[in-house]
Amino acid sequence: MPPKNDFDFDLFVIGGGSGGVRAARRWAAAGHRVAIAEERDWGGTCVHRGCIPKKLLVFAAHFAQDFADAPAYGWQLPTAPTFAWPTLIANKDRELRRLNAVYTDLLKTAGAQMVAGRARILDPHQVQVADQTYRTRRILIATGGRPLVPPIPGADSAITSDQAFHLDTLPASIIIIGGGYIAVEFACIFNGLGTKVDLLYRRDLFLRGFDLDLRQRLASTMVDQGIRLHFDADVTRIDSKNGQHIAHLRSGQKLTADQVFYATGRVPHTADLWQPDLDIATAPNGAIQINQNFQTTVPSIYALGDVVGKRALTPVAIAEAEALLQHWRTGTAANFNYCNIPAAVFSAPNLATVGLTEQEATDRGLDCAIYQTDFRHLKHTLTGRKERVYMKLLVDRPTDRILGAHMLGPEAGEIIQSIAIAIQASATKSDFDRTIGIHPTMAEEWVTMHTPRP
Ligand code: NDP
Repeated sequence: MPPKNDFDFDLFVIGGGSGGVRAARRWAAAGHRVAIAEERDWGGTCVHRGCIPKKLLVFAAHFAQDFADAPAYGWQLPTAPTFAWPTLIANKDRELRRLNAVYTDLLKTAGAQMVAGRARILDPHQVQVADQTYRTRRILIATGGRPLVPPIPGADSAITSDQAFHLDTLPASIIIIGGGYIAVEFACIFNGLGTKVDLLYRRDLFLRGFDLDLRQRLASTMVDQGIRLHFDADVTRIDSKNGQHIAHLRSGQKLTADQVFYATGRVPHTADLWQPDLDIATAPNGAIQINQNFQTTVPSIYALGDVVGKRALTPVAIAEAEALLQHWRTGTAANFNYCNIPAAVFSAPNLATVGLTEQEATDRGLDCAIYQTDFRHLKHTLTGRKERVYMKLLVDRPTDRILGAHMLGPEAGEIIQSIAIAIQASATKSDFDRTIGIHPTMAEEWVTMHTPRP
């Protein structure tokens, strides 16, 4: 390794998303010489093509239910509400510009040098952006992911989440392909905004990996809301004619819509990121392999966030960045703990989860008591809406520890976040039982489930 003074930087971060920005600004603020390169927008996927704009669209879509429910509470709307997609998109873009500036300020204030452009790793200590080469002691890859579209004929006419936030007009109809977070969230968003939605998933029930009871209930709620769910549906070809797209299914069925939206997963964003002779090992899915300290197979090069393919969630990338810096500061192993990471699908209603699913507990041979409740939200006793709330708690019988909590219901993401703290603190069922509820709330049910499922 060249002597320290030969380096322009102590750390060169590639990727200005959640993980990269956190690492760059905290390391710079600690007095190190840091540069960070970003080829698109500061803030990355979460801020510009993910979490934030998605949640704004979720809020927009929810008004449809509020308008429909309002008359039961005595509200009369003078005219039928109308929706202007361009207004929503313009307001959303204004907020994203503000956040872009916030991220820029954070980096500047911390003293990190921002480099606009696509970076390429030339060797273990050199990064090139445009015609400039930077010498650095360490490199951190935090380039995130990009949407994966299967190579079927006509798929290039489809959009992905990258484009969905920038459509000029709200499509009257859309076919969404996939059964993960993005497919389900956007199916609910577009449906709420008035688009006719067909969601196609290749297996028998979407949201594989989440608790089965939640998946089944969400599917039937979405159908009640008018979303057309097609399971065991495989698209083999897409034809486009006169602004319409026709999806051909393996079954022979054809579906037509204004837009086709692929939400079939994301892959690590590593294309042409390093010189071919650099031995950075990757998994078959393209994820960069790292050790317990986020170090790649090239010792001076580290990686974290979506590009390492652990859990593609913003708070995970940020926590990984903190763990890496702590490792650099102290020399102790980072050993990041990926257990009990809470997550929410911002469907209508939300599906949120922390800890083990019932299936995972069964697969591990754990002796679990299952507590569950299924009820109508007080609000809907007046509106007549059929939607129900479902909650499930998994309790390890030998230790009384809570192993998992799962919820389908309004604001389940907000609610499960708090339950995650209890699980992180090793709460037992007895702790839940002696907690007083807040009445009347949905969440009080967490502390009033006294009888396990037979
Ligand atoms: P997911 O990995 O969640 O889901 C991908 C879906 O596409 C799965 O249903 C998968 O099916 C299906 N699929 C994969 N390949 C094909 C194919 N060739 N043909 C047909 N279907 C296919 O990916 P998303 O794109 O929804 O989201 C990416 C990641 O981003 C998520 O995993 C999550 O970590 C993150 N995210 C988080 C959000 C949140 O926190 N609320 C919101 C949005 C994204 P199968 O089940 O058979 O594999």
